[in-house]
Amino acid sequence: MNDIMKQNRRFVKEMKQRNTDYFLNLSKGQSPEIFLISCTDSRVSPSVIMQMPLGKLFVHRNIANQVNENDDSFNASLYYALKHLNVKKVVILGHTGCGGIQAAQQIDPNDSLEVESFRNWITHVHQSIKGHNETSSYQLEKENVIQQMKILKGHPIYVKYGNSVDVEGYLFHLETGELEVLSY
Ligand SMILES: [Zn+2]
Repeated sequence: MNDIMKQNRRFVKEMKQRNTDYFLNLSKGQSPEIFLISCTDSRVSPSVIMQMPLGKLFVHRNIANQVNENDDSFNASLYYALKHLNVKKVVILGHTGCGGIQAAQQIDPNDSLEVESFRNWITHVHQSIKGHNETSSYQLEKENVIQQMKILKGHPIYVKYGNSVDVEGYLFHLETGELEVLSY
C-alpha cells in the first residue's frame, strides 16, 4: 500500500474512534466561516498549522497567495465563498521563505526557459512587491500579503458581495511555526 492509502486509512480509523458519526456529519454539508487564500507551498497547509478541523476553512491556494482578478479559478472561489457560503472573514496567509516571492525578485520577462503561464504568474507576484526590492525577503513577504489585502478590498466581487466581511493578513514563520498578524 502506498503512503497516501496508508495515511488515509489511519485518518478514517482515528476519526471514527473519536466519533462514530464523524463522516455522516461531515457529509451533510459545509458552513465554513473563513475563506482563506494560501501559498501552495507544501509546508504551509492551513488546516494543519491552524489546527482547524474539516469544514472550518474554505481554501484557495496558488503560488505566493495572490489575489488575481484575471484568474477565473480565484474569482469563482471568492464569489462562492461570499455569495453562497456567506463567510464572515477572508484571510490572506503568506509565509517566510516563499519561493514565489524569491522568483519574483529575480524575474526576467524574456526568460524563455520558463513556460509562459509560470512567467505570467510570477510577473503578477512581481507587481505586488515592486518598489520594495531593496528590503529583506521578510519585508517583501509581509508587503505581498498587505498588497493582496488591498487588492481584495478593491476586487469587484468583494465590493459587490463582501461588504461587511473582514479581511485579515497573517505571515506564517516557518522557523518557529508561529503566525504573525499583519495590518496596514
Ligand atoms: Zn510560498
